Amino acid sequence: MRINAERLHESLRELARIGATPGGGVTRLALSSEDRAARDLLRRWMEDAGLQVRVDDFGNMTGRRAGAQSGAAVLMASHIDTVRRGGRFDGAYGVLAALEVMRTLNDFDVTTRAPLELVNWTNEEGVRFEPAMLASGAVAGRFTPDYVYGRTDWDGATFGDELARIGYKGERQNRPGPIAAYLELHIEQGPVLEDAGLPVGVVEGIVGITWSEVTVEGHADHAGPSPMGLRRDALVAAARLIAGVDEIARTVEGAVGTVGRIAAEPNVINTIPGKVTLSVDFRHADPATLDTLVASLERLAREIAAETGVTMKVDRFWTSEPTPFAAEVVAAVQGAADELGLSSRRLWSGAGHDAKYVQDVAPSAMIFARSINGLSHCEEEYSAPEDLEAGANVLLLSALRLAGVEGERSSRKRG
Ligand SMILES: [Zn+2]
Repeated sequence: MRINAERLHESLRELARIGATPGGGVTRLALSSEDRAARDLLRRWMEDAGLQVRVDDFGNMTGRRAGAQSGAAVLMASHIDTVRRGGRFDGAYGVLAALEVMRTLNDFDVTTRAPLELVNWTNEEGVRFEPAMLASGAVAGRFTPDYVYGRTDWDGATFGDELARIGYKGERQNRPGPIAAYLELHIEQGPVLEDAGLPVGVVEGIVGITWSEVTVEGHADHAGPSPMGLRRDALVAAARLIAGVDEIARTVEGAVGTVGRIAAEPNVINTIPGKVTLSVDFRHADPATLDTLVASLERLAREIAAETGVTMKVDRFWTSEPTPFAAEVVAAVQGAADELGLSSRRLWSGAGHDAKYVQDVAPSAMIFARSINGLSHCEEEYSAPEDLEAGANVLLLSALRLAGVEGERSSRKRG
């Protein structure tokens, strides 16, 4: 049994028309009118596939396909909201591949033992309403309903009002689950699979992230009359630290480190910079290694301060712990990829996904499909049709492994 790739691609094309941008991307912000139109289309598709559709108090949409047994379901989920001028596949691919799995099971007249549920999570991107993964986090108990409803966008519109406006404020009892296992298929959004020449990846977890703010204080002075030996230039010291962050991350297997934001004061052409603030983002799968990375940063800051005469303060202000996925769900994904004869590799997601919060409450794993040039959150985001097909087939076989198959008339061809 395999998915119908043409039907998957056609659905992806059709959904991508809602909020389409001139540059070939999509702008479909959470709870916007475009989001409503996309939800209406998804609802129609789910109903046409015979799914029982329900909407919960955060607008999460669930389509349930009954199994031979009642009770906990195997979930296949992602999101159809996008960033501004985002791509056509981030999120939408996971939702529509799950829909294609449902359609394929209908074609082949398969009854699974456990029920299957397709979920479209609200506001995964967090562009319009911060933070990201708001609604899956709320279902997992990380955020209260009041917190969620009170989030505001740049115009002061609240999540609660906008959810009601687009007609997708449902009932608490309609939340997804109970969840036997959770699968999320997504484009990789990174270059690892492409570099390795592999169509799919078996995702073992989501890396931990820690953010620090470094404040460097030197002495601002006129650029002309200050001899080089008598300066305390905060930006020169910061430059050494930035190069050091790169060096620290390179020496630790599996780590990444980024200085993405920097401000120099007074930022004037003929004044020696007196103060610099910069951000440091470290990511790794192991929480102890995150601590080590920050300790290395602090040690380096002390050394540079001692040598240059500036002061450096490192403030580690935010950490998101790594999320290892459930071994049995990862094994199901690996088994599905192997059964399909697909070369794959294990990897960790460097970006956040709803699976991070769902893993709090149910065994979860993710599947990645290769991204071209590792691009996403931009109009150039692209994955080859055959890779999208491969990922969807891994989703299909993973779901069957986890849900179990009760009956199948394998002689029946696709409708
Ligand atoms: Zn996404």
